[in-house]
Amino acid sequence: MREVAPSGGVAGALTGAQAREGYEALKAKGLKLNLTRGKPSAAQLDLSAELLTLPGAADYMAEGATDCRNYGAIQGIAEARRLFAGILGAPAEQVVVANNSSLALMHDAITYALLKGTCDSAAPWSREREISFLCPVPGYDRHFTICETYGIRMIPVALGEDGPDMGEAERLAAKDATIKGMWCMPKYSNPTGTVYSNEAIERLAAMKTAAPDFRLLWDNAYAVHHLTSERIEIANILELTARHGHANRAFVFASTSKITMAGSGLALFAASKDNVKWLLARMTPRTIGPDKVNQLRHVRFLKNEEGIARLMEKHRALIAPKFEKVLEVFEARLGRVRDVSWTRPKGGYFITLQVPKGCARRVVELAKEAGIELTPAGAPFPHGNDPEDRTIRIAPTFPDLAEVAQAAEGVAVCVELAAGEK
Ligand code: PLP
Repeated sequence: MREVAPSGGVAGALTGAQAREGYEALKAKGLKLNLTRGKPSAAQLDLSAELLTLPGAADYMAEGATDCRNYGAIQGIAEARRLFAGILGAPAEQVVVANNSSLALMHDAITYALLKGTCDSAAPWSREREISFLCPVPGYDRHFTICETYGIRMIPVALGEDGPDMGEAERLAAKDATIKGMWCMPKYSNPTGTVYSNEAIERLAAMKTAAPDFRLLWDNAYAVHHLTSERIEIANILELTARHGHANRAFVFASTSKITMAGSGLALFAASKDNVKWLLARMTPRTIGPDKVNQLRHVRFLKNEEGIARLMEKHRALIAPKFEKVLEVFEARLGRVRDVSWTRPKGGYFITLQVPKGCARRVVELAKEAGIELTPAGAPFPHGNDPEDRTIRIAPTFPDLAEVAQAAEGVAVCVELAAGEK
């Protein structure tokens, strides 16, 4: 679960003059650092270098006499679907392995629903007067961009320690038939690292929804991305939705973007049989089949779930020290600044830093002036609007450890100054 580091103590542990002096010294360093996007570092990509030589000139046949070089197999090759079935929590027949981006799959699933309806819809969503999605916040900016692009109203729901505010989600979903979907990042959420409790997952599976074609957009992007030796497991949403009589409720997404190569991985989808049939039918006018050579080389490289777990341990060895460094610097520099706290994620790619109300934009601006690029303040909220202007997403994976340390120190200096200005 997400732990929030203790905050409190004396506001402005530094005097205003000290904070300003610290900031001027930071600017004088002429840094050029970037903590904006959750990208794997080059060293992480190197872990999968073997993929560049696989499957090899003579290896192109997949099971069932599927020639990976040719068209076809729109659902993905059998061995790739089997490889990811456990991670997705579905039998291989209910898995679709697609091209390189799960975000593209989410985008497409939503646009198909808008244009044609889901398998439970009486009409395309776009024919409705209004469509709304529940959006746990803080959340992932690119989810919100999809909604914004297609005119889907976003209704923020607070994300707590153990998942979304379920009382609020249940209340809204039960009474408002315009609510057709809900974004969920059940494990190591972007950007808070939140892991949904089994109770929250069961309530999401069971809750009454006014819309009969309501969908959970279950983005399990960080399913195997542990930062500690604990391999946290969560309840199986597909089993629970089926048990509660809502078998078609969840679209499960994941990808190998942060397992192998972020630009050339595999996107994964799992759902009920009816949903899979629906998705494949919708995909058919769009493509004659995915890149199966990429699927085959992933199968050859990763081999099985244990192979994936071993690779993820190597990622952990590279990135956990970067997270620890940020937390160490924050503890040392910000531990005594009032109303400042941060998450201690057990997995995923981000730390969320909470600064005093009304300070997040200022911190990001100060950091930019000092050569440290941060994700824009407000990005984890619909329309970029953080009502309290408090939340900053820190992405420590891409820069090297020394740069991460410098950037964290720099961010702390900016927080000290912004908090002092308040
Ligand atoms: N979902 C979440 C929660 C993410 O954080 C990201 C990338 O940061 C993505 C999806 C993008 O995944 P993909 O590379 O498979 O499109």
